[in-house]
Amino acid sequence: NNIVIAIDGPAGAGKSTVAKQVSRILNINYIDTGAMYRAITFKCIKNGLDLEDEKSVVDLCKNTDLKFENNSIFIDGQCVDDDIRTLQVSSKVSYVARIPGVRFYLVELQREMGKGDNVVLDGRDVGTQIFPNTKYKYYLNAAVETRAKRRYDELILKGVKASFEAIVEDVRNRDKIDSTRVVSPLIKASDAIEIDSTNMTIEEVVDFIVNDVRG
Ligand code: C5P
Repeated sequence: NNIVIAIDGPAGAGKSTVAKQVSRILNINYIDTGAMYRAITFKCIKNGLDLEDEKSVVDLCKNTDLKFENNSIFIDGQCVDDDIRTLQVSSKVSYVARIPGVRFYLVELQREMGKGDNVVLDGRDVGTQIFPNTKYKYYLNAAVETRAKRRYDELILKGVKASFEAIVEDVRNRDKIDSTRVVSPLIKASDAIEIDSTNMTIEEVVDFIVNDVRG
């Protein structure tokens, strides 16, 4: 039987950093489901779509080729690793992610990508929606200021200019939209292990998950 590891939680909890390291240590695939919502959002903005026009956004999804190669994300053949991390995309992605047709399309694709393989996925609905039957579910959380600070440091490290206040605002705003949407809102799966990483290092969180999976 293949191993599917679900890591969910709010924005900036450290999910992707943790998931990447878990995938490296266990030598399994990594799927960043948030990057997929971000890539769709980036394409919508680039094409000048009205994000309130749900039908156009869903049609765009259906005409999009989305894939990962060596942990980079490609949309219609173009690598968009950097384009999807801007505050412009961050501030819009949750509006795209609450559209039921978009979720339906991406969840199908995510199940397909994870099928039959050992894989770790991070996102908001991996343990509740994409792979609800997996044994390995973690809900990563941290205080909102801690999460915003991590996002801020990440951007600064990449040389992106950012305002801390704008990031706190973005994180709060996304959490609110993500946890109140109608289709698969952000919520801890009842059988997920909650990890509060406010006072933990990345390594400690990674160790915890790896040891738990290895049993
Ligand atoms: O994980 P990341 O912060 O990059 O996700 C960006 C946004 O994509 C989230 O704020 C959320 O709106 C959406 N998302 C989602 N379901 C997922 C992953 C991300 O709705 N599984």
